[in-house]
Amino acid sequence: MAEHSSTPRIVVIGGGIAGLSCAAAISAQASVTVLEAEPQPGYHASGRSAAVYIEPYINATVHALTCASLEHHLAHGASSIGDWMIADEEHAHLLDDYLETWRPLCPDLVEVDPVWVRSTVPILRQENVARVVSDPHTRALDVHRLLEGYRRRLLANGGVLRGNARVDRIERGAGHWEVSFGSETLTADIVVNAAGAWGDEIGQLAGAAPLGLTPYRRTAVLIDPGQPVAGWPMVHRIEGGLYFKPDAGMLMVSLADATPSPPCDAQPDELDLAVLIDRFESATTVSVRQPGRAWAGLRTFLPDEAPAVGFDARLPGFFWLVGQGGFGVQTAPAVAAIAAALLLGREHPLAGTLDPRRYAG
Ligand SMILES: Cc1cc2nc3c(=O)[nH]c(=O)nc-3n(C[C@H](O)[C@H](O)[C@H](O)COP(=O)(O)OP(=O)(O)OC[C@H]3O[C@@H](n4cnc5c(N)ncnc54)[C@H](O)[C@@H]3O)c2cc1C
Repeated sequence: MAEHSSTPRIVVIGGGIAGLSCAAAISAQASVTVLEAEPQPGYHASGRSAAVYIEPYINATVHALTCASLEHHLAHGASSIGDWMIADEEHAHLLDDYLETWRPLCPDLVEVDPVWVRSTVPILRQENVARVVSDPHTRALDVHRLLEGYRRRLLANGGVLRGNARVDRIERGAGHWEVSFGSETLTADIVVNAAGAWGDEIGQLAGAAPLGLTPYRRTAVLIDPGQPVAGWPMVHRIEGGLYFKPDAGMLMVSLADATPSPPCDAQPDELDLAVLIDRFESATTVSVRQPGRAWAGLRTFLPDEAPAVGFDARLPGFFWLVGQGGFGVQTAPAVAAIAAALLLGREHPLAGTLDPRRYAG
């Protein structure tokens, strides 16, 4: 894309799903460069997710962003799997709270017969399935396809994606920003901070006050249940601490853990993995002899568990795109559309609650 005075020069820091989706969304109207510290985009949280779309999730803000993203997901490989929230006798009452919270927003949540549930997913132990609420709208997402779609759109519109480009200096000049990585420096009208777990560090590099981002580690492992999993839904324990879903003939099983962590290349902790396998064996009839690939990733939250999307309260041209927690994949299309509107000087009906200035002291 040719650069001229009316074309904003925008540098996006972070090539995860947040940075790439935003960059793609503005790439037809702006001169965009994405700087990613790792060799490949999606190396951190975006490449380590459970890759599901769940409407009754976190809070009403996230729900609205999720539903507003559905059309994009349906056009990019999303497939229906459904989700069962299971409860044993002890925790059955928690399903009432769950239904009370979510049914006003998700009227299709429905209680289903535990006998049918156990016959459909026969590894579930009878004593763990006293009550079940089904969400028919949960979908499996294709994260690789999403990332690749955003990357291609960015490049097709003349945008640039630089790997191995770890930003180490951000300076405000006369009406513009200078963004350096190693020996190279780019000049930009706007800097977008899409650095995930490193969001507050990037903010501080630019001279902004931190918003209060906290990364939390989450652990997952692939387990072969010894029988076909095709047609199984995602299964959550209502009291937390365990979920699983079909993943290429295996089950992706997660501890649903949330251990505070500094920003880093998160790795699974041996004790977490042992607890995970023990908990999975207690919930099911599977005896895990040889667990498959295990991984961990960081889910980075702001205190109100909604993302921050918008310009900094004090630094002109510094734009926050952070705090996507455990919902950054399923909400990426809507969040990118909001970010694009604001970056290009327009309004967006969902922007208000995401304004980072809510954290300005
Ligand atoms: C186990 C697990 C399960 C999850 N399941 C789901 C799910 O089912 N559905 C869902 O929607 N979400 C899920 N999530 C959450 C989702 O993965 C995140 O919300 C999302 O990936 C965040 O995207 P991001 O682009 O903000 O962060 P990231 O993907 O982490 O991208 C940030 C990028 O910034 C780069 N960066 C940092 N510092 C610099 C620097 N100085 N210079 C240049 N680049 C820099 C990093 O290298 C990184 O690539 C899950 C997360 C985990 C860990």
